Amino acid sequence: RAKRSSKGVVRFFEPEMDVQVSTRRSLEMDLRSADIASQFEAHFQPILSVQSGILCGFEALMRWRHPSRGMVSPMEFIPIAEETGQIDRLGRWMLHEACRQAASWPDPLMVAINVSPVQFRSGGLLEVIEDALRLSGLAPERLEIEITESVILDDSAANLALLRQLRERGVRIALDDFGTGYSSLHYLKQFPFNRLKIDRSFVREIDNSPESLAIVRAIIGLGASLGIDTTAEGVETAAQLERLRAEQCGELQGFLFSPPVASENVAGIIGAYFGEEKRVA
Ligand code: C2E
Ligand code: MG
Ligand code: MG
Ligand code: MG
Repeated sequence: RAKRSSKGVVRFFEPEMDVQVSTRRSLEMDLRSADIASQFEAHFQPILSVQSGILCGFEALMRWRHPSRGMVSPMEFIPIAEETGQIDRLGRWMLHEACRQAASWPDPLMVAINVSPVQFRSGGLLEVIEDALRLSGLAPERLEIEITESVILDDSAANLALLRQLRERGVRIALDDFGTGYSSLHYLKQFPFNRLKIDRSFVREIDNSPESLAIVRAIIGLGASLGIDTTAEGVETAAQLERLRAEQCGELQGFLFSPPVASENVAGIIGAYFGEEKRVA
C-alpha cells in the first residue's frame, strides 16, 4: 500500500486519507447488507408560511442509525448509496415510508421527498411513486418531489418526460438548492416547477452580504412572476426571518423554527402549529 512507501518515495496517501478510504469501504459494505427497515428512519422538518407562520408540511430527510457508528449523515451515505446503486432501494423505501406517514397527517399538509438523479436513471421511478401513493392512500397533490438540476442536466428528454407524467398525476415538483448549479434559468423555461428552494448558502448571508440579498430578492421575484412558490432553506435567525418577510418569500424551513425531528415528534408540531396563525418566531 502506498503508505508503506520507503524513504524518498512520495507518499500518495496521508494517514487520515487512508482512514477515510477505509471508513468509506466499510460504510459501502454495511449499506449493502443493511436491513433498511430497522436501521433507517425518516425524519421530518416543518415548512411554514413566512407571512402567517402556518404549518404547510414537512420535508422528509433520511437518517441512518448505524449499529456501531451511530447516526451517519446523509451527506456521507447518500453519495455512497448513489455510487453503489443502493440508492434505488433506499429511495424506494423512503418514498413508501414518508408517504405512509404523511397520509396520517391532516389534509392538506404536504410531504416533500428528495429523489436522487440516480433514481431517475435507473428506470421505474414513476411506478415506484405511483405504488407509494396507492399503498399509502396519500393524495398526489400532497406529495412534492425535490430534485436538483442535475436531474435535468443528466438526460433532459427522458427525465423531463417523467417529470411531466408526475405533474399530470398531480404530484408537485420542487427544484432544490436553487442557485447553486449551472444555468438554472434555462430549466425554468423547460419545465413548470411548482417550487424553488432557495439554497441555504444565500439565506445564511442575507443579512451581511448585499449580493446574497440581491440574489434572494431576484429568486423570489422570479418565482412571483412565473407563478412558482419559493421556500427559503436554512433559516436560523430572527433577522433572516424578518428580511424574508420583507421580501415576501413564501415559505421557510430552518433551525430557527425546528430541525428535522423523528416521526414521533411530528404529531406534537402538527398539534401546536397546524391551522392556527402563529408567528414562527
Ligand atoms: P436538502 O434536501 O437540501 O435538505 C436540507 C438540509 O439542510 C438537511 O440536511 C437539513 O437538516 C438541513 N437544514 C435544515 N435547516 C437548517 C438550518 O437552519 N441550518 C443548517 N445548517 N442546516 C439546516 P440533512 O438532513 O443532513 O440532509 C442533507 C442532504 O442529504 C439533503 O439536502 C439532501 O440532498 C440529501 N438527502 C437527505 N435525505 C435524503 C433522501 O431521502 N433522499 C435523497 N436522495 N437525498 C437525501
Ligand atoms: Mg431537499
Ligand atoms: Mg436543499
Ligand atoms: Mg442540499
